[in-house]
Amino acid sequence: ILTARDLLYHMPLRYEDATTVAGISSLEPGDEATIIGHVISKGVIRTRKGMRVFHAVLRDSTGQIECAWPGRPWLERTIRRNQLLLATGAVRFYHGRQMQPREHIVLADESETDDGSAGAPAGRVFPVYPATEGLTHRQIRGIVQVNLPRLLREVESGEPFDAAWRSQLGVPSLRDALRILHDPRSIDEIEPARKRLAYEELFFLQLLHARARHRHRAAREGISFSSESELVRRFLGGLPFRLTQAQQRAWDEIEADMEGQLRMYRLLQGDVGSGKTVVAAAALLKAVDSGYQAALMAPTELLAEQHLRTLADLMETIGVEPRILTGSTTGARRDTLLSEIAAGEAKVVVGTHALIQEAVRFHSPGLVVIDEQHRFGVEQRQTLRQAGEATDTLVMSATPIPRSLALTRYGDLDISVIDELPPGRPPVRTGVRGPESRDVAFAFLQEQLAEGRQGYIVYPLVDESEVLDLKAATQMYEGLVQRFDEFRVGLIHGRLPSAEKEKVMRGFVRGEIDLLVTTTVIEVGIDVSNATVMFIEDAERFGLAQLHQLRGRIGRGPHPSYCAAFYSGKEKPERLRIFAGTNDGLELARADLRLRGQGNLFGERQHGAPELRFADLETDLDLLEDARHRARKIVADDPELRRARHALLARELRERHGRSEALYEVG
Ligand code: ADP
Ligand code: MG
Repeated sequence: ILTARDLLYHMPLRYEDATTVAGISSLEPGDEATIIGHVISKGVIRTRKGMRVFHAVLRDSTGQIECAWPGRPWLERTIRRNQLLLATGAVRFYHGRQMQPREHIVLADESETDDGSAGAPAGRVFPVYPATEGLTHRQIRGIVQVNLPRLLREVESGEPFDAAWRSQLGVPSLRDALRILHDPRSIDEIEPARKRLAYEELFFLQLLHARARHRHRAAREGISFSSESELVRRFLGGLPFRLTQAQQRAWDEIEADMEGQLRMYRLLQGDVGSGKTVVAAAALLKAVDSGYQAALMAPTELLAEQHLRTLADLMETIGVEPRILTGSTTGARRDTLLSEIAAGEAKVVVGTHALIQEAVRFHSPGLVVIDEQHRFGVEQRQTLRQAGEATDTLVMSATPIPRSLALTRYGDLDISVIDELPPGRPPVRTGVRGPESRDVAFAFLQEQLAEGRQGYIVYPLVDESEVLDLKAATQMYEGLVQRFDEFRVGLIHGRLPSAEKEKVMRGFVRGEIDLLVTTTVIEVGIDVSNATVMFIEDAERFGLAQLHQLRGRIGRGPHPSYCAAFYSGKEKPERLRIFAGTNDGLELARADLRLRGQGNLFGERQHGAPELRFADLETDLDLLEDARHRARKIVADDPELRRARHALLARELRERHGRSEALYEVG
């Protein structure tokens, strides 16, 4: 907390409801009650068994009661005579009535209370603040109490939403909301106040996104790709299957964007195997058919190579031959390719970051498809966006995330979701196994390998630099080399030089390695259809989304596939039970959101991910949709927020997201 604003926006963790305070004389053993009283005496008593118990007698205008905190003698230092204390807990019979408070708050020191009339300020709800560095809950509460009226006076001029808007949403003004959060008169007031601040938080984030989107789409004139595309017609008609409904819908959205005048800026989201690549291929071909070049960019060389193979297969019958440009494209091959790209002869180019280097000049770039975008941070996304001049951009992500989170994180994009898998694919069977099942599991793995299948064993390294973990993984690998001595076993971890990593990975892709022991550096999108077994060690250390990503490496071919999540503790963790219970990535993502909170969905704090203090992505989707809708409308009408009535919005946007705004300016 550095500024007055920080203090105002420092939201209580919870509230103690003193409106339900009981008079001390009315307490009966067996009650659960909240009381408020002055400390009239206190001390620490040692029981016969040697436990130290802190005692305090509290008195209000109706009577007095003894409170006991077993095993918490240190309270002696924080609870003092004459303080006004709020305590909540069970009342029992012990030499008379006694309360054992579960919670207590010091409401005031002696000096702060008036005449000792033992008054609970009647009908009040007390905020309990999260402590911050250097400030305790009580200090924060004290500072807020003393300064709130003055701080609130400053707020008046900062109300960015007009009254009509607020009443539509059913939320109070900013000033009222802040007053309520810090000093509610009743518990019922609090939710609308929270909603107000949640809305504000979501709205400004959406405003940021809407401006970025507007810039991207309108900054340069877009290309209207022609609506008649012979290549696409032949491509779709020649596929051995029909698009699923979800694929068709996504394709329709993409096609409409491409034919439109503004530049496309769209996220194509779909679980592993949902058929995104086929849709992306259609988009690439549409660009080509209109006389433009199209590029597909992947985060690693290996994934780029894989995409090249897939696209080459898909496009073979229609006579389009995709090319590849990565860091290892060198010498004469590179020179030739660069000149073909510059001459517009290379129509479809797959590659890595190498695609956006200085030397690469496209003759007529029309579309950039970016794969596995969640591995690029927000800032890199910005650089990528500059790669093509007037190009359309399609971002593919295999990470299923709830819509609320997608709108928060990728709010600057339009979103197409493929929420259906192609028919007839056998689901991966998942088991959760304790340490005692290891032998049976390994015997099974042995059988699969003997049948010619391949397998993964994943080892969680929380931190790739953790020497101990690494040692464990290496030891396990050595054990496996012995155990599976008739097979070829490979090892990959984050400390390996990347050339070495690529070599092992490539060996696995080619079938020259049967069993791959790996940490999570394993490629997100790697596709080895012959791999049918995945063992995940210490699986309780992974988040659900991550487990699902890992499992997505198998079940990609005609053979039945099996995943085993091993846990090392005594009890089967709830999270693993959920994991085994469904193959639906979105369902798992929702459960992850519920279990681990919104900041953590990818198992790590995302670079540039917004922090939400008031909004709850599980419950506030409606608010979010409304915020997004309004933000987009405002930006469509006044992109630079120059109108007088948008002045406050512009100011607040700068205040909240100045840094990100600056970043978008770059684009
Ligand atoms: P993603 O990129 O979303 O992981 P892909 O596009 O690679 O998925 O598709 C996975 C597999 O499913 C590929 O073998 C592809 O040919 C096949 N496939 C895609 N769409 C369909 C469909 N509509 N019906 C049947 N198979 C499909
Ligand atoms: Mg794919």
